[in-house]
Amino acid sequence: MRIAILGGGQLAWMLAQAAEPLGISVAVLDPSPDCAAGRIADHVVAAYDDPDGLDRVAAGADVVTYEFENVPAAAVTRLAERGVPVLPFPASLAVTQDRAREKELLASLDVPVAPYALIDGPDDVPAALAAVGAPGIVKTRRLGYDGKGQVRVAAADDLAGAVAELGGAGLIYEGLVRFERELSIVVARGADGAVAAHPPVENEHRDGILACTIAPAPGLDEARRAACERIGIAVAEALDHIGVLCVELFDTPDGIVANEIAPRVHNSGHWTIEGAVTSQFENHVRAVCGLPLGDPSARGASAMVNIVGTEPDLAELLAVSGARVHRYGKAPRSGRKLAHVTVVAANQGDLDATLGRVRALADRAWEA
Ligand code: AMP
Repeated sequence: MRIAILGGGQLAWMLAQAAEPLGISVAVLDPSPDCAAGRIADHVVAAYDDPDGLDRVAAGADVVTYEFENVPAAAVTRLAERGVPVLPFPASLAVTQDRAREKELLASLDVPVAPYALIDGPDDVPAALAAVGAPGIVKTRRLGYDGKGQVRVAAADDLAGAVAELGGAGLIYEGLVRFERELSIVVARGADGAVAAHPPVENEHRDGILACTIAPAPGLDEARRAACERIGIAVAEALDHIGVLCVELFDTPDGIVANEIAPRVHNSGHWTIEGAVTSQFENHVRAVCGLPLGDPSARGASAMVNIVGTEPDLAELLAVSGARVHRYGKAPRSGRKLAHVTVVAANQGDLDATLGRVRALADRAWEA
């Protein structure tokens, strides 16, 4: 079998790693000549909407999948014309490319979300304030990531300025959720409708970027664990999603509130490579190839630490017993994810000492 992947970054690189032992070959489409996945997969260097590039990457592929949600609609249309299936189906992209449609879907599934209002011009500001109040956050409905395309609003008077700053239209204004911590759930859904949910995890962000994931989320009671799982599975089923998706969540005193959906393998699932019986990457490959899903359960307690901006000394990282290093081969740049490190232990207590050493190295590199 052969999979084509739109995007050749670290997610595609780890998908290709998961496909390799199954004897499934991978081709990626990515405009960057030195993308991470190009090291181990066939690489077509072209823009995502380049018809010739799309034809070349899809040639000989049984299925096309993607590692990012902002796949241009023109690309999906071109692939559909060629008759190559695109999985997850384009509906997963259409909903998750637009924060408003995402919120509508969640609300239709009775999943709590932050109060919100859509803003398409200055005239919408008073109604948005009346509906949501302040403080809040204005976000672009499309093309936001890692906290980009967002402006915090501390008081009602600040909203008009924040709206102007983000272009004045195509925006969503959300009430600020007072959460105790951030969680996420990664779920795979197979072509036969079977689902495999990894345990919910706890995520810590820094500068709007994921810094650390602890898996499973420590101290999550059974009712909340089940609520997270229900949300992940309900979203996958509502989208008729085939493949992996992630729902980012807030853990609040009133229960679990959903923030956003990623229709793909997710950074908060990287721990599954070492920490779960079957990784998110392998289950995505299995799902889009029509193969049975693997056991998503955790092997113990895991933590994943992102390396952002610059990389710590490799020897220092490897000197931490049990640290598993994944380097994406990318040039250092402020705010750029360059690598991640996973540690797995029998239980949470054993995890903390090792995690502390990895985090100290990662934090120093982030500041550098
Ligand atoms: P997002 O791009 O929607 O994932 O937002 C990035 C980060 O901003 C989240 O991980 C939260 O830390 C924070 N955030 C986003 N929306 C809200 C909200 N409605 N209330 C509180 N914090 C939020």
